[in-house]
Amino acid sequence: MTLNLLHNSSDTLFEVAVPTPLRKTFYYLPPVGSSELELGAGSRVLVPFSGRKVVAVVISSVALSEAESQVDFNKLKAVESVIDTHPILSPMLLKLGLWASQYYLHPIGEVLIHMLPALLRKGEAAKASLEAVWMLTDKGRKVAWQQFEKKSPRQAELIKIFQSHGHQHSGLLPRDVSALGFSSAQTKALKDKSLIEKVDRRAKASWPDSCHSGPILNNEQQAAVDQLQIKMKSFGCFLLEGVTGSGKTEVYLRAVQQCLEAKKQVLILVPEIGLTPQTLNRFRKRFDHSIAVLHSGLSDKERLNQWLAAKNGDTAIVIGTRSSVFTPLKKPGLIVVDEEHDLSFKQQDGFRYHARDLAIKRASIENIPVILGSATPSLETINNADAGRYGHLLLKERAGNAKAPKIEILDLKDANLSAGVSEALTAEIKTQLGQGNQVLLFLNRRGYAPTLMCEHCGWVSDCDQCDARMTLHKNPAKLMCHHCGNQQPIPHQCPQCHSPKLQALGMGTARTEEQLQLMFPDYPVIRIDRDSTQKQDAFEKLLEPVRLAKPCILVGTQMLAKGHHFPHVTLAAILDADAGLFASDFRSVERMTQLLTQVAGRSGRAEKPGKVVIQTWHPTHPVFNALQLEGYGTFSRQQLIPQRQMANLPPFQSMALIRCDAKRESDAESFLNKLLPLLSGYLQTTGPLPAPLSRRAGMFRKWIIVQSHERKHLLATLNHVAKQVEQSRINKGLSWGIDIDPQDFS
Ligand code: ADP
Ligand code: ZN
Ligand code: ZN
Repeated sequence: MTLNLLHNSSDTLFEVAVPTPLRKTFYYLPPVGSSELELGAGSRVLVPFSGRKVVAVVISSVALSEAESQVDFNKLKAVESVIDTHPILSPMLLKLGLWASQYYLHPIGEVLIHMLPALLRKGEAAKASLEAVWMLTDKGRKVAWQQFEKKSPRQAELIKIFQSHGHQHSGLLPRDVSALGFSSAQTKALKDKSLIEKVDRRAKASWPDSCHSGPILNNEQQAAVDQLQIKMKSFGCFLLEGVTGSGKTEVYLRAVQQCLEAKKQVLILVPEIGLTPQTLNRFRKRFDHSIAVLHSGLSDKERLNQWLAAKNGDTAIVIGTRSSVFTPLKKPGLIVVDEEHDLSFKQQDGFRYHARDLAIKRASIENIPVILGSATPSLETINNADAGRYGHLLLKERAGNAKAPKIEILDLKDANLSAGVSEALTAEIKTQLGQGNQVLLFLNRRGYAPTLMCEHCGWVSDCDQCDARMTLHKNPAKLMCHHCGNQQPIPHQCPQCHSPKLQALGMGTARTEEQLQLMFPDYPVIRIDRDSTQKQDAFEKLLEPVRLAKPCILVGTQMLAKGHHFPHVTLAAILDADAGLFASDFRSVERMTQLLTQVAGRSGRAEKPGKVVIQTWHPTHPVFNALQLEGYGTFSRQQLIPQRQMANLPPFQSMALIRCDAKRESDAESFLNKLLPLLSGYLQTTGPLPAPLSRRAGMFRKWIIVQSHERKHLLATLNHVAKQVEQSRINKGLSWGIDIDPQDFS
């Protein structure tokens, strides 16, 4: 009888994942008038859902008879329209999405929509749009680039690139030109000489038919490449653990090359946009082109074009940040996760996945190898490798002629500081600059000063929305909260006692830059942090003197610590190493050691020997001693991992956080308390506790830490909890979520 009611004679229903916080799928009838329609899993449809029309993804089609028990036929609606005639998500990616939804306990509809680029989420057709490309004109093809070499060497170089085999016919996208380090003025100059012209065309990449050769591998690199070579045909996870400067990238490049020779695609995940141009250039230099780069600076259109190029197999190499782990690949052959320990691979809100872990899962689903590379692998990964679950490739020596730098610990107690730099360090900086070398100073606080304080009454610039101080910025001048983005003008007098004596307290990168410039007026001081690199390409532009081997001082936050290759830096110094040492997070020592090792790793990477200076108030802390004597690999294995085991912490237990944010503290507390009875049994719980940043953007933040020896139990119980919350609706008016394998304890 139901069928008659439905004006629809289909005997098939579609199981559809709709982006909603509800943790289930929904059934729909085929669109009215198209009962015979075959709709593949992974296709997008538009469906009516609580009064709106939303873009959703088909998961499967089900015979009506099978779905009977799960469906309320009176409420059953039809699909409004079909967006994709061919599935947009491959069976493999669908499988990955389903797995991620179960593992991270995140609603399937939100997971699948998250996997798509923005335009596809909005229901746009999966078609590449036209892009403007710079192409050589006839004149440009014939011209000899050498004739420009004297007067405008950069232009000559750009013509040479355009004329190279790879770009002769396919041209270069404007973003490619800037990624290669050329300015728009340089392209304009070539255009004005009628050497290149802008042509609208469908972006088309082709596969490199050959690649440029790299250096001769050293023995360790060769051993790693050999070991990979025999395992390239099926799933396997490899840890490439190589000290900084050991030539890990060269090993990736060889593995990529093998993959391309087999006509397969490679996906490379990198931590942050700041890293992308440099890595990209190394890949481009080796493989000419056909590289898709996915990063947050792309427009929605560009992103979709790149995504489709990867999906259609038109691009051989995809390089991108966290969310690129979901990039479709027609012929996947290899995944590389560079700097696998990096925090940015974990999404910190909403769908809280870890891109490294999903990369491993994806590789196993696609039956291809995955390489995790780092000088300072996470303890999770080290533990997996040492237990034999991963292949282990080791590079213990720096590549080429570079030697590991000497580490010196500098006690701040009796040091005379200016610009946060001790006298001894100042002298060392002077020496290095005088010898024509470059210096890198690391300080993990952006802005001018961490706080503004009243000398008279002790008032400090607290954020009224957070349990935190507002940072003083000078250019543009403002007080800004780094937690919620709250901004205020700098007061001229104390808001509390009206005294005009307000003082900037402590050092941020901007203040250090200012003072260093006064101390070293003859050398450029270059600041690298989130503020100075906001504009696209700003990073590469700032780094130009660095690349040109001019003596200079680099001051920056952890953006500077990540994977960069600065061959002329001979001194790296950490101005304040203590911030992370005594944090409440159980990973703080691991993180601190990684950071120190990475910063140290920027020094002495080429012919000139390097030096590292660490300024600290706690020179006897075991971390420093260990770094000097044994290095990260040994320290983590001999001390950090056993400590975790003793303390029953990850990777020896599975951990999750149940988070709740609420306007009223008691609401968060009582919500979490209601969950406690559901968490008994095999689980160990701690809390509800206030998060260390107990209030952010006006919301009180609380959590329960949940742990278990058995991941299965943890997931099953939390799944049950999520369902209970959904049914009882006790989360009304609250923001809550489950964070599996949490990384952020702030
Ligand atoms: P990592 O990624 O391990 O920190 P890189 O791959 O950046 O190290 O290599 C550091 C430097 O050593 C780079 O300039 C690279 O070109 C160079 N290099 C790598 N392998 C070799 C080799 N086999 N011979 C000479 N130089 C090499
Ligand atoms: Zn005051
Ligand atoms: Zn704030």
